[in-house]
Amino acid sequence: MKALENKILLDAKVIDNKILKVDFFFNYQIDTKILKDVGEYLASKFKNVDKVLTIEASGIAFGIAVAYALGNVPVIFAKKSKTALTINDDNYICLIHSFTHGDDCHVYVRKDFLKPGDNVLIVDDFLATGNAAIGLLDILKEAKCNVVGLAAGIEKEMQGGRKRLEDLGVKVVSAARIKEFKNNKPVFSKEEC
Ligand code: 5GP
Repeated sequence: MKALENKILLDAKVIDNKILKVDFFFNYQIDTKILKDVGEYLASKFKNVDKVLTIEASGIAFGIAVAYALGNVPVIFAKKSKTALTINDDNYICLIHSFTHGDDCHVYVRKDFLKPGDNVLIVDDFLATGNAAIGLLDILKEAKCNVVGLAAGIEKEMQGGRKRLEDLGVKVVSAARIKEFKNNKPVFSKEEC
């Protein structure tokens, strides 16, 4: 998506040729116009979606944008902690290694929001190593849902997530696909049709 590539070139910052900081338009401060456009772009690539599954916190805005563009399907999000309010809930649980924090965390998805046979699209802000998406994939398998695919706002192809997911038979679409970072500048792959 050219508009997102341009936004990244203008307003994002690359740290150590590894992390893309998008604080001015996706994290901390959100540009709702580009978020809406990304949602519509990603939604246009998938059909027959009953529900969107994402992960807190930064996945939620993307989940909403894609789900609304898909015709207002429900958005379910994985929580990263249990609170006094959620401690007694029956959850699917998986362990995910965080690319940005470098540690492992459990994520929780309420069992009653996923039904066997649901067609579920996984959505996240970034696709890097694929750990977060594969964790959610495991939960969907356990819930006996059908995985429609993985939609990511920004993909860092060189960190291997796409390959891991495609090897598992998952359709992957991203709105901006970064092939590599060169001198802390993103180099984009050719846009998908
Ligand atoms: P993965 O699990 O695919 O390695 O990483 C995806 C998760 O890590 C996303 O949920 C995203 O929040 C975070 N993440 C990975 N790389 C980046 C990055 O370059 N910038 C930001 N802002 N978040 C990232």
